[in-house]
Amino acid sequence: MKPANSVLMSYGTTIFTVMSALAAEHGSINLGQGFPDSEGPEDILQKAADAVVAGPNQYPPMMGIPALRQAVASANQRFYDLNVDWQTEVMVTSGATEALADSMLGLIEPGDEVVLIEPLYDSYLPMVRRAGGVPKLVRLEPPAWELPRDALRDAFSPKTKLILLNSPHNPAGKVFHRDELDFIAGLVKEFDAIAVCDEVYEHLVFDGQPHIPLMTLPGMRDRCLRIGSAGKTFSVTGWKVGYVTAVPELLTPVAKAHQFVTFTTPPNLQAAAAYGLGKDDAYFEALAGDLQGKRDLLADGLRDIGFEVMQTEGTYFLSVDIRSVGFNEDDEAFCRHITTEAGVTAVPVSAFYQQADVDHYARFCFCKDDALLSEALERLKKHFG
Ligand code: PMP
Ligand code: GLN
Repeated sequence: MKPANSVLMSYGTTIFTVMSALAAEHGSINLGQGFPDSEGPEDILQKAADAVVAGPNQYPPMMGIPALRQAVASANQRFYDLNVDWQTEVMVTSGATEALADSMLGLIEPGDEVVLIEPLYDSYLPMVRRAGGVPKLVRLEPPAWELPRDALRDAFSPKTKLILLNSPHNPAGKVFHRDELDFIAGLVKEFDAIAVCDEVYEHLVFDGQPHIPLMTLPGMRDRCLRIGSAGKTFSVTGWKVGYVTAVPELLTPVAKAHQFVTFTTPPNLQAAAAYGLGKDDAYFEALAGDLQGKRDLLADGLRDIGFEVMQTEGTYFLSVDIRSVGFNEDDEAFCRHITTEAGVTAVPVSAFYQQADVDHYARFCFCKDDALLSEALERLKKHFG
């Protein structure tokens, strides 16, 4: 047989799948792959169920159903004071993952340079490379996850097509602050580039901090694509409903990819996401407040056991330094070890770097029932305590 695509074939199975399978095999509490252990808000589920029975169930419009595009435009206005034309500036995709892939396929011309900030969500690098982009990596490193400004500036060149920015950041739990965003915006403008902004955790930000879309900075409205996800905002990760906001000049090429990749997204899930985005502020505040409590529960418990815990300002992930409990092998060994020996699963942070040399941090997911988090802490305490 002739060889398949060499870029994609060079990657193994994603770490999330590997660790979830290991957790299932050992009956371990799975704090690895990021997903809530609840079903999402009852009223939103009901909307999806009603919409499938009432129909229509045939192909919805390629750009997404009007109700969801309008809801995305309104949410942009409500949360960020962004004035968005729902007809020309919003597109619905099958998850943020598809929106990211469409962005790479639609915007990158082979040979274009793409600036990426490690640690990276797993689909970024393969899709950039598959689209013919030349990755220019800069890295955030624990424990501080500080933006390396000199390295970032050096990564930009006249060949830079775009930067992929994830804030709030998975797995770092970092929320990019205004001064960092100003710096990034300055480079994007100086090098006449585009920013693809993965903001799937936009509503999962803690301690009263704001989430600031790069798109809201001066001169950035027409240089940014902003990607959101109903999976994260409504705790329904299996739904895979994403949405992209951008000026028509940027959205059109991304829509070209979308029309050939999936063309549409299930209409009932779009209708339910539209309903969800219309929920009052109390819903969004409770979502973040509830998760903040879970972050504190898990972080405090892990510190009691002796772990050094990295600060998490957003997302539903936190990372620990595994050496702080005297574990001297690498992070992958640690995640396997606690799965089989303690009955708790995490994912190794090294999996988010191209070179796995930052290899003594593990990421735990905390969007779980408090009782389950407490049980996981008990197990870890028994093992390490
Ligand atoms: N980006 C990041 C940073 C994520 O953590 C996730 C979650 N899997 C996604 C994108 C994908 O989102 P979706 O499930 O909507 O495809
Ligand atoms: N975003 C989730 C995480 O980081 C996993 C998504 C996936 O399994 N592809 O854990």
